[in-house]
Amino acid sequence: MLGTMQEAPLLISNILRHGQHVYGDSVVATVVDPSGAAETSTFAEVGERAERLAAALAELGVGEDDRVGTFLWNNRTHLEAYLGIPAMGAVLHTLNIRLFPDQLAYVVNHAEDQVIIVDGSLVPLLARVRDQLRTVRHIVVVGPGERDALGTTLDYDDLLAAAGPGYAWPTFDERRAAAMCYTSGTTGNPKGVVYSHRSTFLHTMAVTSAATLGINERDRVLAVVPMFHANAWGTPYGAYFVGADLVMPQQFLQAAPLAAIIATHRPTVSAGVPTIWNDLLRHAETNEVDLSSLRSVTSGGAAMPRILMERFSERFGIGMLQGWGMTETSPLCALSTPPKGAGPGEEAQWRAKTGRVIPGVEVRVTGPDGEVLPNDGVAVGEFEVRGPWITGSYYGDPSPDRFHDGWLRTGDVGSLDAHGYMQISDRTKDVIKSGGEWISSVELENEVMSHPGVFEAAVVAVPDAKWSERPLVAVVPAEGTSVTAEDLVAYLEERVPRWWLPERWTFVEEIPKTSVGKFDKKVLRAEHAEGRLAVVEVPPPAPSA
Ligand code: ADP
Repeated sequence: MLGTMQEAPLLISNILRHGQHVYGDSVVATVVDPSGAAETSTFAEVGERAERLAAALAELGVGEDDRVGTFLWNNRTHLEAYLGIPAMGAVLHTLNIRLFPDQLAYVVNHAEDQVIIVDGSLVPLLARVRDQLRTVRHIVVVGPGERDALGTTLDYDDLLAAAGPGYAWPTFDERRAAAMCYTSGTTGNPKGVVYSHRSTFLHTMAVTSAATLGINERDRVLAVVPMFHANAWGTPYGAYFVGADLVMPQQFLQAAPLAAIIATHRPTVSAGVPTIWNDLLRHAETNEVDLSSLRSVTSGGAAMPRILMERFSERFGIGMLQGWGMTETSPLCALSTPPKGAGPGEEAQWRAKTGRVIPGVEVRVTGPDGEVLPNDGVAVGEFEVRGPWITGSYYGDPSPDRFHDGWLRTGDVGSLDAHGYMQISDRTKDVIKSGGEWISSVELENEVMSHPGVFEAAVVAVPDAKWSERPLVAVVPAEGTSVTAEDLVAYLEERVPRWWLPERWTFVEEIPKTSVGKFDKKVLRAEHAEGRLAVVEVPPPAPSA
């Protein structure tokens, strides 16, 4: 027996129409300089501009399933593209502006983008690969900037002005492609993930749900995560659907402008990688920083150091949450909301967890032979995930090794407890295999970073003749301190098993970061292998695994 309910397809045009008409007065503020000054548009205006964009693209010959790339900062234009391109039945392809040229050319060609919308300030970056782009028929430039390097281009505002409003959004199968995003490709070529209308719609409901971030009309969301990185974690669609104002920071993400943006626009919700929040904390040591408007701050995309959460709470009175997800998972899968009944003294221990699986997603942990391990918070294995916003394959690249009986293998290692709290101890490729035992690079980083003389620290595995691998710790000392490797070893002796104590240390000005601001351990390992890091050796205590 079937239900009697109507079968309305879950389409991005529904998100667009709802935000445009029901919350037409809500606003998108696009920051235009480091002081936080912004240009503001209403949701009604954004909706109409998305209609004009669709009409203009149709005029250029963009039809069903055609890919339209965006090479843009987080701003109003990008939101128009997020809404208008999928709603017309074309496919939004958000391009990572920090990819190496070869990778950028690879993803545009692999996705067969027909049109690219590029910010005027980013023209030189796109121009580097223009000759290699095989399928791009039109380049549309937004705002001022030297355009000649790209050859013939079109102007975004001219196109929108010439197009009429009131595009008739088509209805189609909700499983059709809405948007695509390539993983950063830590090994090999980037892999394409294709979000459907249905998956995006359901993920949008999930990020606004009270069980997660509870975003609603009374909120003002600061979209720190780049919109080319896993849908900015779903916040643009979420905010537009429920009428929450959006603050779009463009390229002004360094601590000083970010502090100014927060003080000026008073957002209530934000989410970003740990390095963004750590930089803000450092800035707050010598500057006035007012985060009192924020009711919710999430750190995700990489392990949140415990000390970051503790200092955030001491300095700003904000209890951070940790989120977990991947490009492959839309991305939100888990959020470290404390359980009911957790007293104020206990909350921190829950917030420090990787996250509690959110409604709509299933998570399990599997052992080396693929066997499912118990959810007892102790058994450690690889996380696998399943659900309506989790990818079931990669675009044009089956990669069967990444899937297991219909579950996505995440490459993340850790444990799951009976109440759905995940604790990641490492990525399979980052864990240190020392004498047949595993050392968690994340746990070591956590302990090293809790030393007051340390600003940032990353731990990688390096080859070792005796133990096969041992940890190398790269440390950025806190300003005005002169911490030594011996100090840190002495500090760790109380905190980690003896055989974890690292012998190899290197002091650096900055930890290399990926295109989305995470520690780039691949680069650190390469720098070490090429002898480019000055390594300080602290002899024993020898490991006794
Ligand atoms: P990349 O592999 O380039 O980082 P993604 O942005 O898709 O691409 O990153 C997904 C990965 O980020 C996860 O598989 C996991 O290793 C890591 N990650 C995300 N959130 C967390 C978290 N809260 N704690 C630890 N690792 C995380």
